[in-house]
Amino acid sequence: MKKDIATPARTKEILAKHRFQLKKSLGQNFLIDLNILNGIVEASGFTEEDGVIEIGPGIGALTEQLAKKAKKVVAFEIDDRLLPILEDTLSPYPNVEVIHQDVLKADLTDIITTKLNDTEHIHVVANLPYYVTTPILMKLLEDRLPLKSITVMIQAEVADRIAASPSTKEYGALSIAAQYYSDAKKRLHVPASVFVPAPRVDSAVLKLTIREKPLVHVTDEAWFFKVFHACFANRRKTIINNLVHNLVGKENKALAQQGLERATIDPMRRGETLSIEEFAALSNELDQLLN
Ligand code: SAM
Repeated sequence: MKKDIATPARTKEILAKHRFQLKKSLGQNFLIDLNILNGIVEASGFTEEDGVIEIGPGIGALTEQLAKKAKKVVAFEIDDRLLPILEDTLSPYPNVEVIHQDVLKADLTDIITTKLNDTEHIHVVANLPYYVTTPILMKLLEDRLPLKSITVMIQAEVADRIAASPSTKEYGALSIAAQYYSDAKKRLHVPASVFVPAPRVDSAVLKLTIREKPLVHVTDEAWFFKVFHACFANRRKTIINNLVHNLVGKENKALAQQGLERATIDPMRRGETLSIEEFAALSNELDQLLN
């Protein structure tokens, strides 16, 4: 029985055997700490009846730990040089399927119906490539996939922004978007030293538990997203100024003011002080007045 992939010695051996050169541009920082991997698996909370989608298996460090506990693992890897390595390292795990594709271009609904239809719940678990953290998370949330949870290793600073509460410096459009679809909790702080090569920043494990329905009712979802993005466009500007400059235009200032009044929000407040409920109320009033 070979040692786990996620040890410094085995990782070094695999990289040397395949003469693999890590690509910084693809966010290739591989995990070499089994305790952290176990922490990620535990935070996710999937069972042996569940299916897992992994993004970026690398040489298979996390994939191996997922395969030991889940019913089936489907892993998306963009770098074709890693495919023969994964075939080698994951050969003891027949419940893993590696798909060579950019996850941002993947039809995940189709993958779920065709490849994970015999699993109970579906979870995403990944040590994400940091250069595309936000687009990947937004795709996973906005595609409304039938997921139970998303547990990801990301930069600590981004995890703080996603899990932030109103009136903190981290709170912004990303916190609202995540909160709308999920309950977001930071689970582990992870030092840079558990990766090869070590990234320049610390990381964190974030768990998003997907809500059965969005947290607030909005009359038009796309409009709601435009409203809160506009309110955060310039953090030093008041809500009214942000709305006028970034969404409704000067000609509609009076209507924007009326919408704020109807939603009982002081136009001089800043976006970062509004709760998601207040953004929803504002979005619904403005939708009625302007669209
Ligand atoms: N899971 C491994 C681990 O924990 O050691 C590797 C994680 S590494 C941070 C990120 C991985 O994502 C790399 O293997 C990289 O090639 C892959 N990757 C980067 N961009 C991707 C994309 N758009 N779609 C799928 N995989 C991607």
